[in-house]
Amino acid sequence: MRLQLEFDWSLAPAHNVIARMPGTERPDQWILRGNHHDAWVIGARDPISGLVGLMAEAKALGRLAREGLPPRRTVVYAAWDAEEPGLLGSTEWAEHHAEALREHAAVYINSDSNSRGFLRAGGSHALETLVNQVAGEVEDPQTGVSVGERLLAFRRVNGNRTEYERLQSSGRLRIAALGSGSDYSPFLQHLGVSSLNVGYGGEGSGGEYHTAFDTFDFFRRFVDPGAVYGAVLARTGLRLTLRLANADVLPFEFGATAATAGRYINEVADLADEERRKIERENELLDSAALRLAADPTKPFVEPEGDPPAPHLNFAPLRNAHDRLALAAKVADRALAEAVRSWRRGHPGDARRVGHKERAPADPERGSAASALVPASSLCAGHVHRLRCEDVAGSAGGDRAARLGRGPMADRHHRRRTGRLRGAVGTDGRATGSVEP
Ligand SMILES: [Zn+2]
Repeated sequence: MRLQLEFDWSLAPAHNVIARMPGTERPDQWILRGNHHDAWVIGARDPISGLVGLMAEAKALGRLAREGLPPRRTVVYAAWDAEEPGLLGSTEWAEHHAEALREHAAVYINSDSNSRGFLRAGGSHALETLVNQVAGEVEDPQTGVSVGERLLAFRRVNGNRTEYERLQSSGRLRIAALGSGSDYSPFLQHLGVSSLNVGYGGEGSGGEYHTAFDTFDFFRRFVDPGAVYGAVLARTGLRLTLRLANADVLPFEFGATAATAGRYINEVADLADEERRKIERENELLDSAALRLAADPTKPFVEPEGDPPAPHLNFAPLRNAHDRLALAAKVADRALAEAVRSWRRGHPGDARRVGHKERAPADPERGSAASALVPASSLCAGHVHRLRCEDVAGSAGGDRAARLGRGPMADRHHRRRTGRLRGAVGTDGRATGSVEP
């Protein structure tokens, strides 16, 4: 076969479409929601199936505002161009507005292609609780249970035994880690804005990805007939966006971040052990001539050279750092929960009294994960929304601890932030938090 190839190397402008609705109470905190609009060819599934969901959300948000329920935080909707050739539209926008985004962006929620089936959510693990809450409220159109319950069933059926037992006891869905491949990248990996990627899939047929067959006709016949899951995506995306936009305290829960980091460390340590055992075994087989004896003598056989033994790695500094992260997360989570409870006790029925000037949210994803590690012995005092932490041990990390100061209370409507917050980790490793009026 001979292929004759032709390329069009000309440059073309890319157009992002950005819509912004200013928040009524916290216009300085931005919730961003995006999906790309460009496609390789026709792109009925990638990206239009996701984009129509996003547009339905934006419409609903506009209607809520007209009816007197505008968002408390600023909401920015984005339809990105030039995603396919390299995330160009979102990356240029994020680079152009980097300073403002570092200052104001609280969370970026991405979607891309959508299909029929199960909820797929990945992203910053501090948002895992929020995803679980939303997954419990959106109805799966094929089964009538929540999309969370359906996904739980799928994972119990298809997961390994450990996963099965964990889900039996906790019922809590874990969200996936995000690599790259869609427009969350410039936000999550370049600017360090906490991000989510959501969509539905697993039951739509495939094969048309990035080809001329990704047409509307194929989509409506084989991928998501009736665009039923397009509507489900809109319900999911809008719930996530509105909760973030209207919560008194941004719904971060740092215990999940720490737990996830701990699991990753265990995985890496196991991988190192496994690799060491593999090399040892191969070298033993080589030494005992077993490889040669097991080979077919009528076929060519080249004895491998063998690898040098794998060194033992010291994971102690990493594990110690993780202990500090876990304690800092515990302090932040407990202190914030207590702060909200305390305020509720002190202000029954009063939703609007408190309003102090705060900076935009510092972010747990900002900077490397390692820089978010704070010393175990830390004392925090500050506003609930942004902990001011003084590191009593005197080493670096206080500011990072401040960045961990956002709490889990997404859904405490009519409860505003107030009070001075104190949290500490004692010598026994127990975290405590309290609030001063
Ligand atoms: Zn796409």
